[in-house]
Amino acid sequence: MTDSINLNEISLPLKLNEEIPDFNEIFQQGNISSVVKVKAEIKKISLKEFNFIGLIRGKFESQCQYCLDQIKVPIKIESNVIIQDLSNLEDSDNDLDVHFQDLDFFKIEELILEEIYLNSSTSLVCSEDKCRTVQESFTDTDKVRPFKKIRDLIK
Ligand SMILES: [Zn+2]
Repeated sequence: MTDSINLNEISLPLKLNEEIPDFNEIFQQGNISSVVKVKAEIKKISLKEFNFIGLIRGKFESQCQYCLDQIKVPIKIESNVIIQDLSNLEDSDNDLDVHFQDLDFFKIEELILEEIYLNSSTSLVCSEDKCRTVQESFTDTDKVRPFKKIRDLIK
């Protein structure tokens, strides 16, 4: 993990072009155990608001939800997030585009992890045909369901 930065005092905009070599984090969808690359910029947009714009790339390891094979899921997130201090959290209406952190001790890894978490699909499927087919049949069922409800109402 890299050191924290003080967003209230550092000169901005801050250009980031970094590889975080040992980004070992386990989250709901998988396990990131490799390099995460960040090419981004942090700029100040108002007295209490900052903006993180950039690209996050890497991959995480997980399991196919059907055959349980190990799979590697690529991460490629075009990120555009407002950063506010934790003290504003209470006033917020829980906007997903706002990332809250202590601005005096800002850690880029925490923002990256939240972005990966929010942008990762919850359905993880390997490239095998048998698993893809199962997934597609579930998707079709979802599409048909609204019509079925209407039919039930007509009866
Ligand atoms: Zn599979």
